[in-house]
Amino acid sequence: MTRPADAAPTSAALFRRAAQAIPGGVNSPVRAFSAVGGDPRFIASAKGNRLIDADGNDYVDLVCSWGPMILGHAHPAVVEAVQKAAVDGLSFGAPTEAEIALAEEIIDRVDPVELVRLVNSGTEATMSAIRLARGFTGRSKIIKFAGCYHGHVDALLADAGSGVATLGLPTSPGVTGASAHDTLVLPYNDLQAVAKAFEEFGDDIAAVITEAAAGNMGAVAPRDGFNAGLRELTRRHGALFIIDEVMTGFRVSPAGWYGLEGVGADLYTFGKVMSGGLPAAAFGGRAEVMERLAPTGPVYQAGTLSGNPVAVAAGLATLRHADAAAYAALDAHADRLDALLTDALTTAGVAHRVQRAGNMLSVFFTDQSAPIVDYAGVKATETWRFAPFFHALLDQGVYPPPSAFEAWFVSAALDEDAFSRIADALPAAAQAAASAVQS
Ligand code: PLP
Repeated sequence: MTRPADAAPTSAALFRRAAQAIPGGVNSPVRAFSAVGGDPRFIASAKGNRLIDADGNDYVDLVCSWGPMILGHAHPAVVEAVQKAAVDGLSFGAPTEAEIALAEEIIDRVDPVELVRLVNSGTEATMSAIRLARGFTGRSKIIKFAGCYHGHVDALLADAGSGVATLGLPTSPGVTGASAHDTLVLPYNDLQAVAKAFEEFGDDIAAVITEAAAGNMGAVAPRDGFNAGLRELTRRHGALFIIDEVMTGFRVSPAGWYGLEGVGADLYTFGKVMSGGLPAAAFGGRAEVMERLAPTGPVYQAGTLSGNPVAVAAGLATLRHADAAAYAALDAHADRLDALLTDALTTAGVAHRVQRAGNMLSVFFTDQSAPIVDYAGVKATETWRFAPFFHALLDQGVYPPPSAFEAWFVSAALDEDAFSRIADALPAAAQAAASAVQS
């Protein structure tokens, strides 16, 4: 079932109209398809494993709203919870019992988390965690890793992956020298570089922040001992360790990456899955640190819509329905997608690596047989093969992430029909990757 590019005329018209009202026609840069070319599909609705665009084309969704939709789209229990919450009132600006339940759910799943504060986006979660780490330690510098993205926080927009890498911007205009000055950007998976930075700046370093497993330069898992080494170094030098689980949290296991690896941090950031697809996120950690937040402590942090009852209902319903069977399905679906990608690309003679971080995965076009461990390694791959590969899949009703620098996300809702669509689409896509030419 091939759909030529002109099978989405309504999307094309909407994109032109959007560009007159919204910068670049989108509200988050990667949605514009800048890295792959062509018009983005405007989505009219979604159900289970399918996205349906404004022209009525349906796609097997391998983006899942960039992670949140582990149960698939419009899961009946989540929709029912949202409808019920909406009928009871949209926002109160006062505490609710459901907020306690969501915080408790997170605390129950992730052992080192003793207290949780709800916010509205992953960006807000990492921004607040950094302010808290600086307030707690009285220090100013932050270590982050090249290719790790933690949202568009000024201090963290240095060498970031995700949309920034996609657009080829090393950092963003508008981020002041003062904000960037206190950020040390080191190569991912390089403990020696971290040890050296601590030798040089030890007393000034408030925190090390890392993605639990990198997903924003494509899926790049931490080497064995990397996160544990960061735990050890931060402890030794009196800095806080912040693990960003916005992407991995409650996706790669019931307890996120922590559930796979068991390395404890002082602070964690969460988003995506625990939001159920609505605007919600969280940060949490050791009580001694979290109690320094207002109103118990002096570090200010607040939000008119934080803990919004409708968003909390969506997050709670999602976590409560993400049972052992759902996590088993996510893992099995990632294994199956991995095998299909590997088979098709191998058959077409395309040198590649399907790289995994739990049930997140990415396709890197490279003849390197060893794992890619950092951003320099990702940038050295044949990313120019990605656009034709992507478009061949899209034309055949499969929606992968529109950038070589992103992770692919499965849902528990993928079924035989979805997998046969993917299997049917892959040979032509692999052929398109094989015959791609570097421009
Ligand atoms: N941290 C990580 C690891 C992320 O992947 C993202 C977003 O993709 C963020 C933080 C920022 O989250 P948000 O887009 O909700 O601000």
